[in-house]
Amino acid sequence: MTFTTRFAPSPTGFLHLGHAFSAWTAFSAAREAGGRFILRMEDIDTVRCKPEFDAAILEDLAWLGLEWEEPVRRQSAHFGDFDGVLQRLQERGVVYRCFKTRREILEDIARAPHGVGDVYRGPAEPMSADEEAARVAAGEAYAWRLSLARCRDVLGPRFAAMRFVEEGRGEIIADPDPLGDVVLARKDVGTSYHIAVVHDDALQGITHVIRGVDLFELTPLHVLLQTLLDLPVPVYRHHRLLTDAKGERFAKRNKAATLRVMRAAGETPADIRARFA
Ligand code: GLU
Repeated sequence: MTFTTRFAPSPTGFLHLGHAFSAWTAFSAAREAGGRFILRMEDIDTVRCKPEFDAAILEDLAWLGLEWEEPVRRQSAHFGDFDGVLQRLQERGVVYRCFKTRREILEDIARAPHGVGDVYRGPAEPMSADEEAARVAAGEAYAWRLSLARCRDVLGPRFAAMRFVEEGRGEIIADPDPLGDVVLARKDVGTSYHIAVVHDDALQGITHVIRGVDLFELTPLHVLLQTLLDLPVPVYRHHRLLTDAKGERFAKRNKAATLRVMRAAGETPADIRARFA
């Protein structure tokens, strides 16, 4: 299998040094392995993602010296694929409609007997089919949540056997329990980052997912989805996050660290890459 990795930005702003580091890390890994490098636009948030940021990302990455395969996949053109994933999860009986408001969920968490952390672990009693149908018919808003309890039932021993390889660390148990019942879609948005990333990594034959360590804790959820959907589990490498002089992560609001501004100030691609060392 050809080593294949990707950089998957969301075009909600200009690229900053942190993104550039992530893109460069994945690109360099592909080059060293003689493999493939893919650029994917994760633009399912059609309100926050903008074509001008998409265009700026392509331009900034090319300026930095990256090359990627064409065509670039834009997730916003494939909502139908993601609807199909949600439907498969519905057929497997592992997702449920949750009509609770944010406030009701926080109250439930506070009431939970052994409640730790701030994750939702599902309703005490499943909603009756009649009540569910009535609330849907009444047009109430809801989220589709992944039920960890149902996943355990459906997967049996495969649930506890879930593992992934983290490069440099070896095999890690994929325990999605700390995340609780995660929202995978909403009434009006039939997908989420989790569905889209897992679907597209498999579709595009990604053998190595290289991304920031901030996404490490979500990996067990992604492995669970891969297991439920019979998709291959890629190798993961979660890299350190680049920080500024104060030790803080670069954020989109930090304009001074965008490639645009640094480039306008006279920095060269080599200057930028020197900051990754
Ligand atoms: N689109 C995600 C982001 O902008 C990255 C997803 C990933 O690498 O898995 O943070």
